[in-house]
Amino acid sequence: MQLTNIGVIKDLFERHGFSFTKSLGQNFLINPAVCPKIAELGGCKSGVCALEIGTGVGVLTQELAKRCDKVVAVEIDTGLKPILEETLADFDNVEVVFADVMETDLKSLIAEKFGNSEVVVCANLPYYITSPVIMRVLEERLPVKALTVMVQKEAADRICAKPGTRDCGALSCGVSYYSDPKMLFKVNRGSFMPSPNVDSAVIRLDIKQENDLDVKDEKLFFRIIRAAFSQRRKQIINPLSGELSISKADLAEVFDKSGIKQTARAEELTLAQYSALCTNILSLR
Ligand code: SAM
Repeated sequence: MQLTNIGVIKDLFERHGFSFTKSLGQNFLINPAVCPKIAELGGCKSGVCALEIGTGVGVLTQELAKRCDKVVAVEIDTGLKPILEETLADFDNVEVVFADVMETDLKSLIAEKFGNSEVVVCANLPYYITSPVIMRVLEERLPVKALTVMVQKEAADRICAKPGTRDCGALSCGVSYYSDPKMLFKVNRGSFMPSPNVDSAVIRLDIKQENDLDVKDEKLFFRIIRAAFSQRRKQIINPLSGELSISKADLAEVFDKSGIKQTARAEELTLAQYSALCTNILSLR
């Protein structure tokens, strides 16, 4: 069944009485080149299991299932159930879990369904939970090798921006701390049904198996980063002083000790420099 064919999709919808729910970010892929590419570049192959978030009619699910040992997909919309029973009928290595991914214990799900196999996450993410899903996978340190996701183009640019460069933000710092992000390819808005107002891009986050930074206190490290970017046009010392209730004079010493100029702004610092700030702030206590 050619699930990128508009006629096939419309027929499925009509027979099963399905209609799009815009608030769930339901823009389904109809460009036949995209899903095989996500599966290939996402590392789907024999010996690997895939976790998908948001099946739609199963267009990406099929490509993952063709290549991986096993696919588990989490989909919130139970209205897609009869459609998926039809579109995935030929695959005995796919299981769809109908649940809200944000309410799902993904660590337990991965352990239960995949055991010790190598796991990748592949998804065309609903735009309204792009960052929370990505940050959950990273912060919960889920045992996955890589996360290959389609997101809005602007979000992809922000996520992939390197700390210490103009476009970076708190999100890019978080992503770069846990992974090596790569922009894979762009996907224009005409590749979806219905067509969204913006273009998209597929990115891959290769999870760091070991962290090269020696962060002494992760909670404080991320608090510093969030405070710094909360007023990105200001010199970091100002928001940091307020957030941590440390005098600017003490912070000035911390900056000197860390080899960072006192006038630095959030986007100028690398993760190693944020880590140095964290270490030297801890030594004040
Ligand atoms: N993978 C399909 C494709 O590429 O055509 C569908 C992608 S569509 C952008 C996003 C999918 O995520 C929809 O099927 C939507 O119902 C599902 N979804 C939205 N919110 C979700 C949530 N909180 N948990 C699980 N699935 C969700």
